[in-house]
Amino acid sequence: MRRNKGLAVTALLSAFLVLSGLAALALWLLTRGGRVLQFLLSATILAVLSALLVGVGALGLSFIFSKPLPGMEKLANWAVRFLYPVAQRLCRLLGIGTDALAQSFIAMNNRLVRLRAQSCRPEKLLLLLPHCLQWSQCTHKLNTQAEGCMDCGRCQMGQLLTLACEYGIRLALSTGGTLARKEIAQLKPQCVVAVACERDLLSGIIETPLPVMGVLNQRPQGPCHDTRVDLPQIRSAIELFLSGR
Ligand code: SF4
Repeated sequence: MRRNKGLAVTALLSAFLVLSGLAALALWLLTRGGRVLQFLLSATILAVLSALLVGVGALGLSFIFSKPLPGMEKLANWAVRFLYPVAQRLCRLLGIGTDALAQSFIAMNNRLVRLRAQSCRPEKLLLLLPHCLQWSQCTHKLNTQAEGCMDCGRCQMGQLLTLACEYGIRLALSTGGTLARKEIAQLKPQCVVAVACERDLLSGIIETPLPVMGVLNQRPQGPCHDTRVDLPQIRSAIELFLSGR
């Protein structure tokens, strides 16, 4: 996935600066309040801003040194979750498409997952696929493990099932973000390779406390309809988790 990872980092840093400015304004407005209130509010704002700065700084340093900073993973993830909605609004204001930011964020996430190099046994790796990969005219009803597919070749479902079988990993089909989260809660994987559009991948990566390699789907027929995916990209994501390299 060749996307501009710099956009995500820049947007997160800008979000941090905007929040810092708002915090400074709030403090200035409170200068007429009681001293205890001023102290408590200043201490809280300072603590939150410091944690955000360390979190985003840890992300930036991970990229610069091409390795994750030990012990900073949770703080960095929290900072991203906190700042992303602000970054999204900033991008909208500046006329930068939210898909571009999401693509950049997904590329950044994938790079971090690669740097963290977490290995996983095949039975603990989940390949999570959207239903829209199934050919829209297919008459076969697939269950959540895509069983029922006859591998007729009209869509890639049969090839994806073969791929999952080849590596001995689990496969789940979902029709949206909520169901995907339910699948993850039920199957309890350690790592996930997820295929989806920008919006679903983004929310999945932000909300799932697991390493997720995101692979964007291709939409030659428009959104949510006869979508496709780059199979070599899926294979490479699977091998990354199974080998831990
Ligand atoms: S490959 Fe499977 S899911 Fe796709 S059209 Fe054929 S039977 Fe249906």
